[in-house]
Amino acid sequence: MSVTPSQSAPRPARAGAGQARRPRGEGQWALGHREPLNPNERTKKDDNPLNVRARVETIYAHRGFASIDPADLRGRLRWWGLYTQRKPGIDGGRTAVLEPHELDDEYFMLRVRVDGGQLSPEQMRVVADISTRYARDTADITDRQNIQYHWIRIEDMPAIWKALEGVGLQTTEACGDCPRVVLGSPVAGISKDEVLDATPAIDEIVRRYVGDKAFSNLPRKFKTTISWLPDVPYEANDVAFIGVNHPEHGPGFDLWVGGGLSTNPMLAQRLGVWVPLDEVPDVWAGVVGIFRDYGYRRLRHRARLKFLVADWGVERFREVLEGEYLNRKLVDGPAPELPAEPLDHIGVHEQNDGRYYVGVAAVAGRVSGSVLTRVAELAEAHGSGRVRLTPYQKLLILDVPKDEVNGLINGLREIDLQAEPSQWRRGTMACTGIEYCKLAIVETKARAAQLVEHLEQTLGDLDTSLTINVNGCPNACARTQVADIGLKGQLVPGPDGEMVEGFQIHLGGGLAMAKGQEGGFGRKVRGLKTTAEELPAYVERVARSYVAGRTENESFAQ
Ligand code: SF4
Repeated sequence: MSVTPSQSAPRPARAGAGQARRPRGEGQWALGHREPLNPNERTKKDDNPLNVRARVETIYAHRGFASIDPADLRGRLRWWGLYTQRKPGIDGGRTAVLEPHELDDEYFMLRVRVDGGQLSPEQMRVVADISTRYARDTADITDRQNIQYHWIRIEDMPAIWKALEGVGLQTTEACGDCPRVVLGSPVAGISKDEVLDATPAIDEIVRRYVGDKAFSNLPRKFKTTISWLPDVPYEANDVAFIGVNHPEHGPGFDLWVGGGLSTNPMLAQRLGVWVPLDEVPDVWAGVVGIFRDYGYRRLRHRARLKFLVADWGVERFREVLEGEYLNRKLVDGPAPELPAEPLDHIGVHEQNDGRYYVGVAAVAGRVSGSVLTRVAELAEAHGSGRVRLTPYQKLLILDVPKDEVNGLINGLREIDLQAEPSQWRRGTMACTGIEYCKLAIVETKARAAQLVEHLEQTLGDLDTSLTINVNGCPNACARTQVADIGLKGQLVPGPDGEMVEGFQIHLGGGLAMAKGQEGGFGRKVRGLKTTAEELPAYVERVARSYVAGRTENESFAQ
């Protein structure tokens, strides 16, 4: 099935005599704006970013960091999951004033894509081994089901790629303006509630299109979710396929487009179509094709698909998808049903084959190679060895016979992975923050750990779910706007008037899948800010006041 745009794509009007200068437009390729309009577009046009892999293997890994071309260093290496990490000791006040090279360390953050969040026993071992061998024992579980390392040397990349690719993992397009990791249900294929396992569609998209140069120069990043269960943050993705039962056609997927947070957050919208499993890859490619050809490239902050969807509306988007990219009509379909309770899969749950899976919480996704090695050992000793990562920075161990569950839970507790965590630990996420991220203004992971510890000590547990998302800057990598308590890192006035690390507070946000109702953004109350030091006491006060004032069954967001 063709996914190329038709030759009838509209052309820009020619400027006639006496006519004003032609507007520059938004940089849409399909409208003839092929000339790069900003440095990022120029870098991509000068050389396809996927080509940088060969230069790493043949030049940079041998000659070292200093040999890396600046356009590769701060641009194209991202297509292979590599970002320079922040030089230690630079405070958040200098983030915006320093030149990029002044923030660069000679080490890299490396993101490994784990599409669908699924790891085999061999993959777990390799992921853990790379951490201890090459990454100073660092490993974070990201909120997009990736594994993220730090302290990576360019010299070690050929060996790391060889190890990862030897077990079917990759860093290809883990970052960059391209199709990033595909989110999937952490319980795909084992859930008793699942009607259709979406994994074959995820695998097929990765096989066909990841690393395909036809899709390696998109206007910006492109985020995908494909899941039968609404247990993934699908409304925050550029494209999402969520399971639905069609009254005539049976199980398939409901298509959503145009979600994205960061600045100008927007939730994805339904196109109102039903897509059978085997057509998901073609329809996905059609949506990506629209983004590639019609997406805005002139201004980086308007280059996400959400802006095009907002301008076109879903009716026009569907028309273009059907008419120019699929060359057929799609079937109208129903909306998915939302769960009554949030589905984060923490705790012990029976699988569809009578065995069990155990979901455990590391605080804000921070683990290590040593911890992952022990998880791999425990998963093999008590289960099949299969592990899943969740988009909430948590871990599931699969295929555990009933009489092995307690042994597994006890073993995991010894490495501080809890199957019965407090709601504070269970509901808290954090982005990378100032420890390694060059865009950060504040520290996040350690703050999240302190916050969880403080709330556990002062309030004990909570009898309802409550989410706290800690972000180091406005980019919202840990989804600031859709938490019960969303924290956006910024500098705020300290007690003596000097600017110190702090957070702007967003209250009462949430995604539909996490709330069992319509999703929405937290309220950003002007002036509602706290210093980082006062954060634990602030959140404690908010929680106490919610508990004291709530009516029966009233969630935090209400
Ligand atoms: Fe970095 Fe900001 Fe994203 Fe956090 S939200 S990882 S600080 S860019």
